[in-house]
Amino acid sequence: MGKATGFLEYERIEEGYKPVAERLKNYKEFVIALTPEQAQVQGARCMDCGTPFCNNGCPVNNIIPDFNDLVYRDDWANAIKVLHSTNNFPEFTGRICPAPCEAACVVNINDAPIGIKSIEHAIIDRAWAEGWVKPMPAAVKTGKTVAVIGAGPAGMAAAQQLARAGHSVTLFEKNDRIGGLLRYGIPDFKMEKSHIDLRAKQLEAEGVVIRTGVLVAGPEGLGKGSKVTNWAKETVSPEQLMAEFDAVLLSGGAEQSRDLPVPGRELNGVHFAMEFLPQQNKVNAGDKLKNQIRADGKTVIVIGGGDTGSDCVGTSNRHGAVSVTQFELMPMPPEHEDKPLVWPYWPYKLRTSSSHEEGCEREFAIATKEFIGEKGQLTGVKTVRLEWKDGKMAEVPGSEQILKADLVFLAMGFVSPVASILEAFGVDKDQRGNAKATTDAAVGYATSVPKLFAAGDMRRGQSLVVWAIREGRQAARAVDAFLMGKSALPR
Ligand SMILES: Cc1cc2nc3c(=O)[nH]c(=O)nc-3n(C[C@H](O)[C@H](O)[C@H](O)COP(=O)(O)OP(=O)(O)OC[C@H]3O[C@@H](n4cnc5c(N)ncnc54)[C@H](O)[C@@H]3O)c2cc1C
Ligand code: SF4
Repeated sequence: MGKATGFLEYERIEEGYKPVAERLKNYKEFVIALTPEQAQVQGARCMDCGTPFCNNGCPVNNIIPDFNDLVYRDDWANAIKVLHSTNNFPEFTGRICPAPCEAACVVNINDAPIGIKSIEHAIIDRAWAEGWVKPMPAAVKTGKTVAVIGAGPAGMAAAQQLARAGHSVTLFEKNDRIGGLLRYGIPDFKMEKSHIDLRAKQLEAEGVVIRTGVLVAGPEGLGKGSKVTNWAKETVSPEQLMAEFDAVLLSGGAEQSRDLPVPGRELNGVHFAMEFLPQQNKVNAGDKLKNQIRADGKTVIVIGGGDTGSDCVGTSNRHGAVSVTQFELMPMPPEHEDKPLVWPYWPYKLRTSSSHEEGCEREFAIATKEFIGEKGQLTGVKTVRLEWKDGKMAEVPGSEQILKADLVFLAMGFVSPVASILEAFGVDKDQRGNAKATTDAAVGYATSVPKLFAAGDMRRGQSLVVWAIREGRQAARAVDAFLMGKSALPR
């Protein structure tokens, strides 16, 4: 273990942020990672628990006590081997994971948890800087072919695992660059996209054929009214892929945004968050856009209190919005969780993101009744206050109000994958419209269609990057076992 008395001697050290005024000037990452010495102190705090709840709280089951100890002992080269043994892309999770492992850490019962995410961040950044992250092509090829459709974290992890198992993998992506929502959605200031580019090079060096700008769809395409990102120049049919490849994995995410069909929805100025955020990612990548949705000089209202909403807040402030207000339907959660009640689970509490700290009014228990406009242009939002009554939220009589708004972003989550894609493959859907496939070890990730598998948000619904990586890895093992009769890939 780290240092036997470390948890008694040392405090948690948080990663720093660059000052707000400085970071609002650009879209670059602003988190200041721990120095190697600070990471060692964090490693020293780990108690190497007999039952490491952190390991169970982590969806990829990172072997946390081991890498904490290795960092404490200044053995970074072995720390990255341990970290990579369970997680293909720790530079993604070390930046944007909400870190359920830390909520589950035993020290979190009565003190501040070990800074596990900051240690992960420090290990992988050092590994890249030292040149320890290298392609690992398979020594022997199996002669089997696999198509992976959708190059988000689930598809990328699956493709990497399958290529390392010796299969010939083609990764299809409708957008012009790989990464899924990590690329087009999550702002660059949370994660710069060069991290994805490095992994794309590694995948190619391991034999993965990456085909961007290719939509896999039936004659209906993405279906009517779908506003998901799509820069495809070519369409390939499901039939063609099913005939050409020995196995096919669907990892197309859950991209269908939840809408708010109240009067005035059609007004100019009301947009899905996912119309706004990817545009800024593209501009940051150096692409020229016509008619970018800009928040400069505008009064912005973001509807939806989650991560996506918070990303709209951060992006609007970088554009130079006059004011940004975020609405949440539910009442304000408590500032601190009741630890004895909720540990080791993910606690329900008020979460204030770095974007909120950059400038944002937050309104809780508020619903939107109508978008108001003049000559087709949004000018305001009619709201009503909500209260908890008889076990449900109810409108407070007489609390209606009209708030000025030039721009509204709808960030109320995602309902399902794009239905037409699943229908084109003929897969059964679950009650929420996701591809139906269990994670059961025996038949894991197999859909109702022979030799067709599904993983990530497309199977589980909109979730987290770390869950996508887990599902990609586990689905790869299931595909490998299907092709070879057994698999040596880790589950
Ligand atoms: C704005 C925003 C912020 C978020 N912030 C965080 C965060 O801070 N931390 C976190 O852990 N998670 C966050 N998430 C959630 C996280 O990004 C997703 O859970 C994760 O990316 C899902 O991975 P995936 O590989 O399953 O799908 P996706 O990332 O959605 O990737 C699917 C890919 O498949 C492609 N595709 C779909 N259909 C087809 C087709 N028919 N043909 C070809 N290609 C296709 C899509 O273009 C896309 O590139 C956020 C999500 C959003 C929208
Ligand atoms: S639960 Fe916390 S203290 Fe225990 S092994 Fe995991 S990181 Fe270390």
